[in-house]
Amino acid sequence: MARIVLASHNSHKLQELRAIIGSELGVHQLIGYDGPAPVEDGTTFAENALIKARAAAAHTGLPALADDSGIAVDILGGSPGIFSARWGGPARDDRQNLELLLWQLKDVAPAHRAAQFVCAAAYVLPDGSEHAELGVWPGRVLTEPDGENGFGYDPIFAPEGEERSSAGLSSGEKNLTSHRARAFRTLVPGLIARLEE
Ligand code: IMP
Repeated sequence: MARIVLASHNSHKLQELRAIIGSELGVHQLIGYDGPAPVEDGTTFAENALIKARAAAAHTGLPALADDSGIAVDILGGSPGIFSARWGGPARDDRQNLELLLWQLKDVAPAHRAAQFVCAAAYVLPDGSEHAELGVWPGRVLTEPDGENGFGYDPIFAPEGEERSSAGLSSGEKNLTSHRARAFRTLVPGLIARLEE
C-alpha cells in the first residue's frame, strides 16, 4: 500500500483527517509523522502548511500532507490568525487561548463578532512539486464556551446558520463543513491524480 505522511504530531488531527479524506485516498494510506518539526516562520497559513509538508517529505522521502489552521476574527483584523495556537502564551494551551480571546472581545456586541476558521492544506511530493488550498468556515465568536466536542476554539465558535458552537456539533457534522474538510477535499483529488500519473 502506498503511504502518504501527515506532517503533524497531533494524533487528533490524524484521526480527523482520516475521517475527512479516508474514502478519497483509495489505495493510499495516511500515516503519522515523528520526525523533526520545522520552524513555522511563514507569514500566511499556506506558507506554514507548505513548510511543514516540505520538512516531512524531506525527512521521510514520502509524499507529505500538512495543514496550518486557526481562527481569524474580523474586528481584530484577522487575529489570532496564524498565531492561534499560542495566542494565550507559550504554553500553547487551548483553554488559555480561548479565554484570552473571549476577554479581548468582552465589550463587542454580537453583531460585530464575525470570525472564520481558516485552514490551509498542502502537499509536497518527493520530486519537489507542491500545492496548497485554503478552506474557510464562516461564523461568529460566542460570548461564553458551549459544547463538549472538538478542541481548541471550538467551544466559542458558532458556524454561520448554527445556534450551537462547533463543539456542540458531532464530529460527523463538523467534518461535513469545517475549514479543514473544505481545504482537504479541494486539495486531495489533485494529489491522488499526481500520485497515479
Ligand atoms: P496548528 O496546529 O498550528 O494548525 O494550530 C491550530 C490552532 O488553531 C490551534 O490553536 C487550534 O486550537 C486552532 N484551531 C485550528 N482548527 C481548529 C478547529 O477545527 N477547532 C478549534 N480550534 C482550531
